[in-house]
Amino acid sequence: MTSPQALRGTSDLLPGDLARWDAVERTTRAMARRYGYQEIRTPVIEDAALFLRSVGETTNIVQKEMFSFQDRGERTIVLRPEGTAAVVRAYLEHNLHKTQGFAKLFYLGPMFRAERPQAGRFRQFHQFGVEAIGSSSPWLDAEVIALGVEMLKCCGASDLTLLLSSMGCRSDQAASAKQLRTRLAPHRAKLCKDCQSRFDKNIFRVLDCKNPACHQLAWDIKGSPFILCADCRRHFDDVRRALRAVGIAFDDTAVFARGLDYYTRTVFEIRARALGAKDAVAAGGRYDHLIEELGGPPLGAIGFAAGIERLLMAAADGAAAGEAAQRTGVYVAVADPALLGRVFPIVQRLRGRGVAASLDYEGRSLKAQLREADRLRCRSVAILGEQELTDRTVTVKDLEQGSQRTLALDQFVETA
Ligand SMILES: [Zn+2]
Ligand SMILES: [Zn+2]
Repeated sequence: MTSPQALRGTSDLLPGDLARWDAVERTTRAMARRYGYQEIRTPVIEDAALFLRSVGETTNIVQKEMFSFQDRGERTIVLRPEGTAAVVRAYLEHNLHKTQGFAKLFYLGPMFRAERPQAGRFRQFHQFGVEAIGSSSPWLDAEVIALGVEMLKCCGASDLTLLLSSMGCRSDQAASAKQLRTRLAPHRAKLCKDCQSRFDKNIFRVLDCKNPACHQLAWDIKGSPFILCADCRRHFDDVRRALRAVGIAFDDTAVFARGLDYYTRTVFEIRARALGAKDAVAAGGRYDHLIEELGGPPLGAIGFAAGIERLLMAAADGAAAGEAAQRTGVYVAVADPALLGRVFPIVQRLRGRGVAASLDYEGRSLKAQLREADRLRCRSVAILGEQELTDRTVTVKDLEQGSQRTLALDQFVETA
C-alpha cells in the first residue's frame, strides 16, 4: 500500500526548513513594526463575491486561479488568493474607518491559487503584506515602497530592482485604455487567447501577461502606456522625489501594470536577479477606490505583498540562511536511565527559567546522546550521573567552544 502524499503545489515545512522561515517571519514583523504597522489576521476562507468585486472578474486570479467550493448554504466560498481585499473587508467590517480612520496594517499567512505548479509558484504559498488605508499622500507611497525594499534587504535578498510606474486615476485609465486599444488593434491577432478575449474589457492585462508574444508587443509600445492628468502627474513626481530623498533607486522606464482591477496611480514591483527577469519578489500599489467599492467612504490606500517562498529563493545565501546555524539550549545527558526520576525535575526547572532543554528517555549511550545534542544544535550538554547527582554538581560541555567544566548543579540551573 502506498503512503499518502502532500498535494501537488503544496509543501510540508520541516524543522530544518523552518529555521529560515522563522528568521524571515521575525525580520518582516520587526521591520513592519519599525515603520508603525500593526498585525492583522483574517480568515483563510472568504465569500467569493469579495474577490469578484475587488480583484476583478476579468483577472486571471478570478477567472482561473481561485479554489472555490459551495458550502451547505449554497454560498460560494474561496480560499483567499490574496490579502488586500480581505484586509479592506475587515477594516470596514470593524469600522476602523470610523474609530481610527488612518490604519497601517500588516499580515503574514498562506494564500491559495489553483495555478499549474511550477518553479517558484505554489498552490499554497505564503505572503507578507502591508496595507496603509486612509491617506492619499505621496509620502505614504514612498514609505510603503521603502519598507518593501528595506525588508527584502534585511531578509538577505540582494540584486534588487524596483520598477515604478503610475497607472493614473480612473479617468486617466479610461483614456489610457482607449489609446492602448488603438495602438494594439493592428496586432490583435498576435495576442494570446486570454488577451484577445479581454481586449475590450481589460486591455491592461496585456501589459501584465506572461505570454512572451504579448509581453513583446507591450514593450514595443514607445513611452508609458499610461496618460496621466495633472494631479496624477504631480503625485507621481512627488513619490519619485521622496524616494530620491531617501536614496532608493528605481526604474520608471519599464512597461508594466499590476493585473488586478483595483490599482490606481502608483504601482511597483521589486524583482531579484536570483529569480530571473520576470518574477517579482514583492509587488503592490495604490488602490484609491477599493474602500469605496466595498461599501466604505472614499479613502486613499496603498499596500504591497511579498512572497515568502520567493523571498527565501532570492535570499538563498543571505542573512536568512545565517541565522539558522546558531546553537541554542541545553541537552541534559543522563548516564543511566534509572536516574531519570531525579533528572526530569532538573530539566523542568531549566524550562521554567526559559531555557530550551532536551533529554533522552530511551536509555541511549552517552556518546549517542552527545551526537543527538549536536544534531539538535544545542549550545551545551549537561552530563548527569550518579556521582554528580550525589555531589550536586554537573559537567557542562560547551558545543560551540569545545570547552568543558564542572559546576555546582544549582548554580548551573539558575544561570544556564
Ligand atoms: Zn489622474
Ligand atoms: Zn496575453
